[in-house]
Amino acid sequence: MATRTLEGGCQCGAVRYRISGEPVFAAICHCSMCRRAGGAPAVAWAMFAEDQVEFPKEKPKTYASSSEGRRGFCPHCGTPLSFTASFIPGLIDLTIGSLDDPAAIPPQLHYWDSRRLPWMKFADGLPVFPEFPPQG
Ligand SMILES: [Zn+2]
Ligand SMILES: [Zn+2]
Repeated sequence: MATRTLEGGCQCGAVRYRISGEPVFAAICHCSMCRRAGGAPAVAWAMFAEDQVEFPKEKPKTYASSSEGRRGFCPHCGTPLSFTASFIPGLIDLTIGSLDDPAAIPPQLHYWDSRRLPWMKFADGLPVFPEFPPQG
């Protein structure tokens, strides 16, 4: 069976990525750090093994957004692209909104719903977790 390849990148096109295969996990995060880093009310993430993801042009620039996590963005246009952390070794989250076809990866759940903005309500029927979902 052919492996699905998905592509995406930043708004200016300097950073592009290519993904082989399916995400480990896809979800919408309502935490205050994603909100600030994304400049958006919530951020949809798709998680992959690091070796599923290639950056054929420039790589994202990263910064430490906490003692454990690093966030990646385009150094030219600032588009938020990635998240890696010591508590998810070998894994990389990519912003679903930066995919060329964001509809290709539907989120499976909402997490950090305890931080969700009161005016943002979803009727998608997906499971909701107040903080991180249980592992596994
Ligand atoms: Zn860019
Ligand atoms: Zn978050």
